[in-house]
Amino acid sequence: MQTQYQFQTADKIIAGAYRFEQLAVELQKTIHAHRVLIVTQPSMVNKSQFETMKHNLSDNQIEFDFTVSIQPEPTIANIENTFEETVRGKNWDAIIGIGGGSVLDAVKILAVLNDESQSIEEMLENGVQSKGLPTILIPTTSGTGSEVTPNAIVTIPDQQLKVGIVSPYFLPELVIIDPVLTLTLPKEITAATGMDAFTHALESYISIKANPISDMFALEAIRRISKSIVPTYLDGSSLEDRENLLIGSMYGGMALTSAGTAAVHALAYPLGGTFHITHGVANSMLLPHVMDVNQEAITTKLVNVAEAMNLPKLQNDEATASSVVEEIKRLTNKLHIPQDLQSFGVKEQDIKALAEAAFNVKRLLNNNPKPLNIPEIENIYRKLIEV
Ligand SMILES: [Zn+2]
Repeated sequence: MQTQYQFQTADKIIAGAYRFEQLAVELQKTIHAHRVLIVTQPSMVNKSQFETMKHNLSDNQIEFDFTVSIQPEPTIANIENTFEETVRGKNWDAIIGIGGGSVLDAVKILAVLNDESQSIEEMLENGVQSKGLPTILIPTTSGTGSEVTPNAIVTIPDQQLKVGIVSPYFLPELVIIDPVLTLTLPKEITAATGMDAFTHALESYISIKANPISDMFALEAIRRISKSIVPTYLDGSSLEDRENLLIGSMYGGMALTSAGTAAVHALAYPLGGTFHITHGVANSMLLPHVMDVNQEAITTKLVNVAEAMNLPKLQNDEATASSVVEEIKRLTNKLHIPQDLQSFGVKEQDIKALAEAAFNVKRLLNNNPKPLNIPEIENIYRKLIEV
């Protein structure tokens, strides 16, 4: 537990069903914006909410344009091209992101690029040097918690690598949390993104940078997500469960902003870069095995996690802690998330390179409650091959 800590988040958050309809009013009242760019994804453009939003913006004399050119897990080139086509010289007052983590992360970067003082490469090298345009972030998945984090992930295709740019300048002026926007999320995406959010919460809670503020958000995220993820996977129509996942995902983002993620994320990145395993699936597969290795260092914390997950107290703390690891495996099974790296083409001979790549993600590995060396990391990957 850290003895000194800090917490920072979005300037303003409005939350609840149908709050998305207040976007135009909030743009006027909070952002004082009259010309805005909307960055979103194709699945959003066909929704009735998007039509209503366009009418609302026009009725409120807000000029706008929109783009769907940001790809999932965007490359630097994809973000730069989007900047050239839709942002440079357009004099927008603000940029609005409506989508999953990829869209929201890209908006953070586009807003800073608007200054024309820094390229993305320079942001990677020297950090972000200035605050860009105001941003409004509206998540349509319950996963990354990107709407409240200072992180933006970009892909460098030549190196098959995903890298994070982290800056408080990336925090948005306004967040709208509306579970109605997540009602039609396909079940596989609900499962994978939900387990990513769960991983954020659990890793923040056991991080060596965990603190009273992050713990509060992390445990509440664990409680909400573990309660609602399977019911939502089976039937996505409950607004109450959808809200639990969306709030849980935002709390996970708040927790990780203060405490950081750890070994699960460090080991997941090489699987995404080299084998294109989606982030949520990679995390979900790794989570029980990393927690198993960590268990003796975090027994008391896992007892608290068991309570948040509504698991019974067993004969001793060790048994209760083990039940958390078993319950995570059960959750992953119920969500039909693969448990086996071989189905993604990972072979024994790939493990060494994967472990070396994960070992280099020191920023996250250093948060892990138990230091891991390369052979220990290899063993974790191997468990996912031997199943
Ligand atoms: Zn994540």
